[in-house]
Amino acid sequence: MDARRLAYLGALGIDTYLLRDSVPEDLPAPAPVVVPAAIAAPAPEPTPPRPARPAPRPVVVAPVAAAPAAAPGVATATGAHPAGDLDWEPLAAAVSGCRRCGLCETRTQTVFGVGNRAARWMVVGEAPGADEDRQGEPFVGRAGQLLNSMLRACGLAREDVFIANVLKCRPPGNRDPAPAEVAECLPYLMDQIALVNPQLILCVGRIAAQNLLGTDTPLAKLRGKVHAVGVRQWPVIVTYHPAYLLRSPLEKRKAWDDLRMAMATVAPLGGSA
Ligand code: URA
Repeated sequence: MDARRLAYLGALGIDTYLLRDSVPEDLPAPAPVVVPAAIAAPAPEPTPPRPARPAPRPVVVAPVAAAPAAAPGVATATGAHPAGDLDWEPLAAAVSGCRRCGLCETRTQTVFGVGNRAARWMVVGEAPGADEDRQGEPFVGRAGQLLNSMLRACGLAREDVFIANVLKCRPPGNRDPAPAEVAECLPYLMDQIALVNPQLILCVGRIAAQNLLGTDTPLAKLRGKVHAVGVRQWPVIVTYHPAYLLRSPLEKRKAWDDLRMAMATVAPLGGSA
């Protein structure tokens, strides 16, 4: 493991266990936890280093149908055809002027999505929160900072990926999206996915995952598999929402397993970015 990845895992709050001899010489401060201080200090017995676990093997499951995802010959959110005249500008204009559900009455602005429109990785979240509603960009609050760290742990800058939400408007009080709101808004996301044509969709959190995949399956059962969605059966990997990881930092290790599966899924297709 190189020094950069160790530093990122440290920033994520994921303890990294190394044999002392294998600590890279160019490791920047703060150093990773070679032996946790709480164990090392009073320990009468030396604590053996935890063996590195192999990267989780991607398990491909049967495609799960996304609810109103565009199918061949079916109109998209803007009425364009997914195979041909779909384009960013009309889609962005349709989203910014959208009045398809009641959320248009309470939003400050729509939150279209941000990032590399030719990205290999796409990140899909649930809906804008207060910060995102104010700034017009997804994942700009504390959860966004953790998402950036998660991406950096995969060797990706925020600018390398395209980030969007299932809902483009903030539900008041950050309540869960209503099914009718999802039904109106999901076609926008499916159009974005079709335009980006990513090699991998990293779906963060239960709400985003269940709505994108069109299922009620709990998050724990959605993790650890490669799902597929949309007309081109884009691969989807599900992990915890960064806001949940901020509340439950012990789950970060499992999130790291998901990210390693994501990297393993993209890598055979040609690179990690
Ligand atoms: N949570 C999300 O799911 N999306 C955002 O944009 C911000 C927080």
